[in-house]
Amino acid sequence: MEKNGKKCGHCQASIIGRADKRFCSSQCRTGFANAHRLSDQGELLIKEVNMVLRHNRQLLKKASPHGKTTVRRQVLELAGFNFRYFTHVYRTKQGNTYHFCYDYGYLLLPQEDKVLIVNWQQYMQPQENI
Ligand SMILES: [Zn+2]
Repeated sequence: MEKNGKKCGHCQASIIGRADKRFCSSQCRTGFANAHRLSDQGELLIKEVNMVLRHNRQLLKKASPHGKTTVRRQVLELAGFNFRYFTHVYRTKQGNTYHFCYDYGYLLLPQEDKVLIVNWQQYMQPQENI
């Protein structure tokens, strides 16, 4: 095996072997791919949004571990809840729209800036496209 005069694209070590090799090892090829993926703006955004959604869900779960609970909107906001992010919505026959973060959701109540927190229920599964 000869040094081919090139340096590894990830760790800069001299590459031994074929002239078209770009990395010294499969670990470095994977490492480079992972580092590259993290610098992708789309992937970064996905990571950030996932973090916000996860945080939102944690706050809902903490506020309402066992079903329906009413809290002040401000309580969630102070804890860092971000009302702009949710995974899906559930619209009731009465026209109320619940916003969900995975398996926990909330309904903004018109009076006193309150929020009703609920757990996802089987019957909320959409029967048809809405
Ligand atoms: Zn390397």
